Amino acid sequence: MFDRTKATIGFHTLVATPEGIDSLIRLLREGLAPRGFNLLIAEMRFQFKCFPEYSSGTITAEDASRLADVCEELGIKLVPLWPCLGHQSDSPAGTPLPLLKQHPEFIENPTVAPDATWPDIYHHSWCASNDDIYQYIFPMMDEIAEACRCDTFHVGLDEVFDIAMCPRCKGKDPAELFARTVKILHDHFAEKGMDIMMWGDRLLDSISMGYQMWEADRFGMFPALHMKDKITRDIIICDWHYDLHSAGYPSVETFIKEGFTVLPSVFHVAENAVHFWTHALEAQYLSKRYGWPGQLGGMICTNWTHLTDEYVQNLLTAMNGGEAGEELDAMVGKVIHAMEPKIEKFKL
Ligand SMILES: [Zn+2]
Repeated sequence: MFDRTKATIGFHTLVATPEGIDSLIRLLREGLAPRGFNLLIAEMRFQFKCFPEYSSGTITAEDASRLADVCEELGIKLVPLWPCLGHQSDSPAGTPLPLLKQHPEFIENPTVAPDATWPDIYHHSWCASNDDIYQYIFPMMDEIAEACRCDTFHVGLDEVFDIAMCPRCKGKDPAELFARTVKILHDHFAEKGMDIMMWGDRLLDSISMGYQMWEADRFGMFPALHMKDKITRDIIICDWHYDLHSAGYPSVETFIKEGFTVLPSVFHVAENAVHFWTHALEAQYLSKRYGWPGQLGGMICTNWTHLTDEYVQNLLTAMNGGEAGEELDAMVGKVIHAMEPKIEKFKL
């Protein structure tokens, strides 16, 4: 289970190939473990044994197991991530991932052309009313979990735009559709004694909080926050904000007041990351002073590019304060470099 008594310092990344796993292992050994990182959220593109036809990458169970060995050795908790409900698009965004491509009955908005891009579509979603999808999704998630020997699974759930659109869902409450999906995913893993993590953005009202529609919801899902029987407070929330919000980040204290353990999640601009973390510490102070039921559990640095040798080399150089250029790898490294002194004294 997820240890809520320990301050979490996490790193999230995409990784698509066995070579990428090797690059990630180097990053863990040389960069993250020495800095006290104790959580790795790995969004892996897998080659499945259960459903090879729905594979979207070349990482095998053996590669994931190799990663799990290194994490165990370094005292880093490995949490695999599978994007659920939203983020079901390949590239271009109008083209669904292999499962939905071969089962169009699961696509929430099938009217989109395969070559469509933003702003005609953001990403496909699966239909939140068609539970037949779980006979495919769960064996694939279980295969990843087993290979990683994990006790916590990150179920994604971020940036869902397409909901309550298809004939099956039209007229239903988007918050109910979202909440029931969370409950189905939660209960699947709870039956195995596992915890789940999820991105928090769909539980936030973008208009009242002053957030944009990626980091918070504009499509009627946010009232699900208060459906406590479905969005249970044992779920670990990753509250991501990559833009700078000069008036602060009301979501952190909202999640703490609601009883969640929340992990603010930052990305590629060092100034924004430090700003967000500084405000998160205000929420931690307030939560202790007023006895709110949840807690600030730590933080997560995210990386949204698939790892390669060169990428990791630049990331490490920037993490060490060296000159690594202005690309994303260097920017993510600079965030870790800037955050290091801010997080090393963080205690729960
Ligand atoms: Zn639907």
